[in-house]
Amino acid sequence: GERIRALVVQFGDMGLHAGVDVPRRGLFIDGEWVDPVLGKRIPIVNPTTEETVGDIPAATSEDVDAAVKAAKEAFYRNKGKDWAKAGGKHRATFLRAIAKRVAERKSELAKLESIDCGKPIDEAEWDMDDVSGCFEYYADLAEKLDERQYAPLELPMEQFKCNILREAIGVVGLITPWNYPMLMATWKVAAALAAGCTAILKPSELASVTCLELAGIAKDVGLPRGVLNVVTGYGHEAGAPLASHSGVDKIAFTGSTATGRSVMSAASQLIKPVTLELGGKSPIIVFDDADVEKAVEWAMFGAFWTNGQICSATSRLLLQEGIADEFLKKLGIWASSIKVSDPLEKDCRLGPLVSEGQYEKVQKFVKVALDEGATLVCGGKRPDHLTTGYFLAPTVLSNVKPHMQIWTDEVFGPVLAVSTFKTEEEALALANDTQYGLAGAVISKDDDRCKRVSEALEVGIVWINCSQPCFCQAPWGGNKRSGFGRELGEWGLENYLSVKQLTRYISTDDWGWYPKPSKL
Ligand code: NAD
Repeated sequence: GERIRALVVQFGDMGLHAGVDVPRRGLFIDGEWVDPVLGKRIPIVNPTTEETVGDIPAATSEDVDAAVKAAKEAFYRNKGKDWAKAGGKHRATFLRAIAKRVAERKSELAKLESIDCGKPIDEAEWDMDDVSGCFEYYADLAEKLDERQYAPLELPMEQFKCNILREAIGVVGLITPWNYPMLMATWKVAAALAAGCTAILKPSELASVTCLELAGIAKDVGLPRGVLNVVTGYGHEAGAPLASHSGVDKIAFTGSTATGRSVMSAASQLIKPVTLELGGKSPIIVFDDADVEKAVEWAMFGAFWTNGQICSATSRLLLQEGIADEFLKKLGIWASSIKVSDPLEKDCRLGPLVSEGQYEKVQKFVKVALDEGATLVCGGKRPDHLTTGYFLAPTVLSNVKPHMQIWTDEVFGPVLAVSTFKTEEEALALANDTQYGLAGAVISKDDDRCKRVSEALEVGIVWINCSQPCFCQAPWGGNKRSGFGRELGEWGLENYLSVKQLTRYISTDDWGWYPKPSKL
């Protein structure tokens, strides 16, 4: 009773649903919670209240060494028969157990996610469904992997027979960002474990709480020790030693293009394969024939969902001139009506930015855009009713020109830049004129036009008459400076598999290339 009352006081009108404590965790290495060797910790700041609500361990290279050692031992334990070579069916039982446990703890995990990174609670709950769905999906693929082993391959010489074996690539380092803390980790962990790899997960120092809970869940379900290790810490102290570690066979990274570059260059020293899911500045093109109100809502969803902090945000809106005025008027009114609030409040649709640093960075982007001549349609500042927290109202900037920073650079906040075009050709030239190539969206009633635009967009993901929907069955990833490799779907599993050919000579004849000496 006392504790509940204390929480009610602490969280004010958010009510009892906020009553969740942030657990104090250690690093998760070799199946155990351990303190970091140097004993350092990083405060967890709730971006809504700006208060410190706990702390996470700060790993350094000493801890990374221990985690890699544990992962390597787990990979080879019992000649691999405990995990890597145990068969997908065996591994799938653990993935399903994790999925079940996440589903059971959904409400609590979603609240922790909201408190840690500011994500609206409805989105965080959706994330948790996706987390369990993704573990289930990769459990299915792990089972199917067994059926694909020793697949025969047609060869043009009948004396030979060839079969294909798919083997776990080894110990993998998984480095993830803060915008989907548990889900981004899951995309990697579920696929890597399904493949038979053992892993070291390094979540973002800005949001690691649910990734540590994932470690706790791994422990609860009896995942063999060392198969999943979670080392939280700063990028340069924990991420960099992981990327350059000689005991790590592959790095899968999601984060900014700048960090991706340094991860790739560290990995290149050891010819270590990498997959990189980096930033974006994705276009959404709306043609005159579109249903304006439907298109306005998708444009908002593409820019303000996940508090605008999503790599695939369609943050460049290209409007055909015929509808531009009506569209912008409706967009301004609708975007200004979005519920911006404490993310734990019911029906919140936009929470705070993740950190003070990010808040300042995004505000600077808006200032530079206005200085460069863009027009503020709405937002651009903290909503009047919110006095604390890193809140920025949904922001729309029109009259944006291709040379402006707000058009070329990834903002990672609820800021939509708008430009107009006359022809389809002009729209495509504008859309593709970017260093990035993650996603793009087209809105039009003309199917042929949608097809032409989809084919012409230089990106890895195209949305037609929508923006942002993401399914774990479909490949995810980009081109150009948005990275390479694809996560999710069967492509996600292949990331963690190495392909081995077994070629057998099946003829009873001698090979007969070298004439046999008369005396042998
Ligand atoms: P970030 O690059 O700052 O950090 C990502 C991760 O890398 C963190 O865990 C960080 O600690 C770690 N890191 C930092 N320096 C490192 C180093 N030198 N060596 C190894 N690891 C290091 O990115 P962020 O700010 O956490 O996330 C935002 C970025 O992520 C945005 O650019 C966004 O577009 C991108 N993102 C991409 C996708 C995608 O699927 N393409 C998804 C989400 C986010």
